[in-house]
Amino acid sequence: MTATSIDAVSARAAGVKPSATLALTARVRELRAAGQDVIGFAAGEPDFTTPQVICDAAVEALQGGMTHYVPVPGTPDAREAIAERFRSRNGIQCTANDIIVSNGGKLSCYLAIQALVDPGDEVVLPTPAWLSYKPMVELAGGTVVEVPAGPEQQFLASPEAIAAALTDRTKLVIINSPSNPCGTMYEPEQIRAIADVIAGHDRAWVMSDEIYDQLIYGDREHLSFGALPQTADRTITINGLSKTWAATGWRVGWACAPGQDGAVIKAMSRLQSQSSSSITSFLNPAIVVACTNTDAEVEAMRVSFEGRAAVMHELVSAWPMVTCPPPAGAFYVFPDISGTFGRTSPGGRLIESAATFAEALLEEASVAVVPGEAFLGCGGNHVRLSFATDDDSIRSGCGRVQAWLDQLQG
Ligand code: PLP
Repeated sequence: MTATSIDAVSARAAGVKPSATLALTARVRELRAAGQDVIGFAAGEPDFTTPQVICDAAVEALQGGMTHYVPVPGTPDAREAIAERFRSRNGIQCTANDIIVSNGGKLSCYLAIQALVDPGDEVVLPTPAWLSYKPMVELAGGTVVEVPAGPEQQFLASPEAIAAALTDRTKLVIINSPSNPCGTMYEPEQIRAIADVIAGHDRAWVMSDEIYDQLIYGDREHLSFGALPQTADRTITINGLSKTWAATGWRVGWACAPGQDGAVIKAMSRLQSQSSSSITSFLNPAIVVACTNTDAEVEAMRVSFEGRAAVMHELVSAWPMVTCPPPAGAFYVFPDISGTFGRTSPGGRLIESAATFAEALLEEASVAVVPGEAFLGCGGNHVRLSFATDDDSIRSGCGRVQAWLDQLQG
């Protein structure tokens, strides 16, 4: 950046780093456009297309003339369909008024943080964590207090560690289960124990990012903080179309916060009314269909992901110098690759970090993985691989990595 361009932008904007995952996805696109056969494990999105009934509902609404402004937090029908889903699936007592629909789960998180966090407030965040939370907290003037949790504890912060991180300045605790990037999730009793700890701190809210709550493997059970009496009044639950319904490009996310007379949803609506206004009008009827009429499609995708999770974990676990907890939910594995540090790649690159590992792997074996540094905590020893891609790509991509690892020297 030149001196002039630094002067042009605000200190706030200048301080924001671009998303590492989006940058990597762009690089993969570039290499492919240049003819390179890249196998991509980097993108955090399902390879399926959005179920047809959802697409039909949007097209029908568009063709039917639903092309004007709609209410800022979403249409009453869409908000009620989401509220009903939260009530029946998550056990969260809420009404349509407790819901706001925004342009993607990412914006839902951003607005929730803007609505709650003041300069000087602390936000407790188990790490490794999704890479957007920290910049969002900092944009609100808050400070992230990390609670590191490594692979030996399935990347799950203990209630004791969260208790130790809470202070009088804590305004928010962010929990993302199942987790991006870790692919692990909290058991119901762990959620209860964490809720008990947070309940002892009057000021502290929970932002429970449950965007992967339908993508769970084995006989695991998901529990929402918003369903527990001790935290129900102080929880914002985040979800959306992107992951469950393979609809990342639609940009539809939502938040639910029934507590304290809907104060947080009202605040998010005010912020949204002065920024993006609402989501695209004709997507509202599609939300209703997604929430009420797609169980079979969602389950079919979940079953596919479950099969791929097992294949990917088996292949990654066979790699030399690498350890990897099994995925419990979402569509990621997050292996520890620090055993390769200090070695030299077949192309002559010294591997000294997750970033150099990922760069060498992409350039030399044409496999894209996300280096873990941006996820904080122990992330610098890890890379993230998404298994939201077809079986053949998983097998051949993992084979390429294995062959490349076998040739590391030193
Ligand atoms: N939360 C988590 C944990 C995510 O992984 C993502 C997307 O990668 C989001 C929120 C935001 O999803 P979107 O904005 O695509 O709806």
